[in-house]
Amino acid sequence: MNYFQLICNKRFISNCRNPKANIQSNILSKHELEQALICCVKIVQKISYGQDMRSLMEQQEVAASSSLKTLHPFIDKGGLLRVGGSLQQFALPYQTMHQMILPSNHHFTKLVFSAEHIIHQHAGPQLLIASLREIYCIPRMRNLVKSVINHCLTCSRFKAQATEQLMGELPSIRVQNSRPFPLQAWNMLDQYHSVWDHHVTNL
Ligand SMILES: [Zn+2]
Repeated sequence: MNYFQLICNKRFISNCRNPKANIQSNILSKHELEQALICCVKIVQKISYGQDMRSLMEQQEVAASSSLKTLHPFIDKGGLLRVGGSLQQFALPYQTMHQMILPSNHHFTKLVFSAEHIIHQHAGPQLLIASLREIYCIPRMRNLVKSVINHCLTCSRFKAQATEQLMGELPSIRVQNSRPFPLQAWNMLDQYHSVWDHHVTNL
């Protein structure tokens, strides 16, 4: 099932549950897209951080050997694994203070990076990382960003160097030392002779 099918399925379930008066049949809303994204993130988190999430749901800390230990993770009311930390005093949006944690080795993470790269007009590494860090916390993000940009076909085409055409071999007379303008004078004289011959033959 792809991302679009997931959104459509969620709408179908929502329409089945709601009274007929509230049936949605127009274009997909921003809320529906966000809900589908959150659903995908939850699935990926359960696959990649299942053990850590179980520990947190049982009100325990993650294992000391866990890769998430330094992030002080917690599970929010919606069931998403988020970064803890000490940014509560900053006037930042909730999703930036407590980013959603995604694994760097999952295909979904690469798709998120690719989508963000295209949304920001094929952004470079710095812009892409800054944009992603507003929502996601991904270990080894810089390496993954470079990999995604290097595999982008559009960026590769723009970066490609134009091939330089090799210069043809010059005639020997052009590379010999000589006084200025002798060749041009002979050329002009030849032209004069040919014009004169043409004029005489037509008399
Ligand atoms: Zn690109």
